[in-house]
Amino acid sequence: MFHGVVVVGVNFLAFVSRTHGLKKKEEEQRRTLKQGCVWLKKHTLSLNFQNSGQFNCSASFRKLSAKVRKKMQIIRCFQPRFRSLIIKSPFSSSTSSFCSSAAAIQAERTIRDGPRNDWSKDEIKSVYDSPVLDLLFHGAQVHRHAHNFREVQQCTLLSVKTGGCSEDCSYCPQSSRYDTGLKAQKLMNKDAVLEAAEKAKEAGSTRFCMGAAWRDTVGRKTNFNQILEYVKEIRGMGMEVCCTLGMLEKQQAVELKKAGLTAYNHNLDTSREYYPNIITTRSYDDRLETLQLVREAGISVCSGGIIGLGEAEDDRVGLLHTLATLPTHPESVPINALIAVKGTPLQDQKPVEIWEMIRMIATARIVMPKAMVRLSAGRVRFSMSEQALCFLAGANSIFTGEKLLTTPNNDFDADQMMFKVLGLTPKPPKFSEEPVRAFEGERCQEAVSI
Ligand code: SF4
Repeated sequence: MFHGVVVVGVNFLAFVSRTHGLKKKEEEQRRTLKQGCVWLKKHTLSLNFQNSGQFNCSASFRKLSAKVRKKMQIIRCFQPRFRSLIIKSPFSSSTSSFCSSAAAIQAERTIRDGPRNDWSKDEIKSVYDSPVLDLLFHGAQVHRHAHNFREVQQCTLLSVKTGGCSEDCSYCPQSSRYDTGLKAQKLMNKDAVLEAAEKAKEAGSTRFCMGAAWRDTVGRKTNFNQILEYVKEIRGMGMEVCCTLGMLEKQQAVELKKAGLTAYNHNLDTSREYYPNIITTRSYDDRLETLQLVREAGISVCSGGIIGLGEAEDDRVGLLHTLATLPTHPESVPINALIAVKGTPLQDQKPVEIWEMIRMIATARIVMPKAMVRLSAGRVRFSMSEQALCFLAGANSIFTGEKLLTTPNNDFDADQMMFKVLGLTPKPPKFSEEPVRAFEGERCQEAVSI
């Protein structure tokens, strides 16, 4: 194995030397690096090569002296600058070429340093653009460091007030501006809502979400008070409760918190730049303001977006950038694939490919490691194998139940079968007021590759 390490070091130095001509400072670094390699060899540590071309000393990092750790840091400094190293694998006699992708570099950084909010758009774009299988692999690595990879949260979403919405969201059949054949209904009564929540609980759901097709809750005092009552009752049933009711005011956020609301959903939908192509009746900043009020009230933030709206890949990156640079990352990030509904302006959009979903999910996982990344609308179009890839890439939450507001969702029995086949378990509800647990990456720091 140490043969491999030495070969990495020698090839690496040869590469540096050939292409850049070592200056005095680099000569010193070369000496330090060489000493580090000799030290490693002497101490017979267990080293493995990773497919990114980096090496991993997981079990043994603790044993290293501060001096050698410093030497390893020097190696780390060089890695992003020289993407491609030719190394001789210790497991075969052939010479292989490995490429350290942006997904690998940023995933490693996330695992080492934990969540951060200073992502640049270029950094996220380079992660998003990494070769898809590499992106998937590194999304999976971050996922396993930050979460129990077998646990998948099951949420049930009920439309408690359907249709007749005054907004003009181009994808939405509930907007009163489009002729989709959907009839506007009044707020569902208490018995019907509680019965649905009970059913969802029996079916294994731990979070119950109530959606109302409203622009906001202003001037809806009676309905809003009813919603507060539903929240209290459902919370009393031992379930997490989420609402999506449009824009909120400060006082309403406080009242929802008092009633026991766990999370509030308010999606950004897409990038700031593309947003005016999708919605004109409220601004991107309106949405951000609601998210801020929710956060200030001490309610978990659920915010994500939709792909397949006709946006460019840069807009998908832009959406993730906005979410990942919020002062605190949303606790839940739903990734929806558009279900084009007849009668809406987006009725002719072509369906989203599974690889587009995987790119979004894995990138979201790497840039917002602690968030619950929810495989949301559009899941119904994906096979069990395709969904398995999404879970592998970092998704750990789904919506269960026959419908997602007004569009079809996966069959309950098929979901149960999927959990069994894939060895997934339902994530238990979390009611603690404590902030989300510390990033496990801190504990795992000693296991990361250098
Ligand atoms: S997405 Fe919400 S706000 Fe937009 S039209 Fe539909 S129900 Fe109204």
